[in-house]
Amino acid sequence: MNYEELLDRAFLQISQLSEEKVDFKIPEADSMIQGNKTILRNISVIADSARRDKAEIAKYLTREIAAPTSMDNQSLVISAKVQQTALSEKIKKYFEIYIICKECHKPDTKVQGTERGYMTIVCEACGARYTVKSY
Ligand SMILES: [Zn+2]
Repeated sequence: MNYEELLDRAFLQISQLSEEKVDFKIPEADSMIQGNKTILRNISVIADSARRDKAEIAKYLTREIAAPTSMDNQSLVISAKVQQTALSEKIKKYFEIYIICKECHKPDTKVQGTERGYMTIVCEACGARYTVKSY
């Protein structure tokens, strides 16, 4: 195999890798309403998928829904009635703003810091760096 062929092969492997990333799916809320509360059962799955702390997701949802939240075992308890579709929408919005890189659209970002109400997001895939309004 010559050098050109090696390059082609490497390129093919890289494009296959990035294709896998495009298949990234934003998790849906797995939740149920119990009395005046909503139990989000898959907060761990959401946090793992976002590569953020559960506390970060909880903080965002607390702010978005304007209701207190607390952890109960592996579930997030929201002190308000929120339909599953509405909760999924909030989570989708979270991923679109805070997780998925606005340059390369991969979910490989991390928060580098928060200053004066703005979060600095850095993408580990493409190196993009930008700020978004904090929550
Ligand atoms: Zn990126």
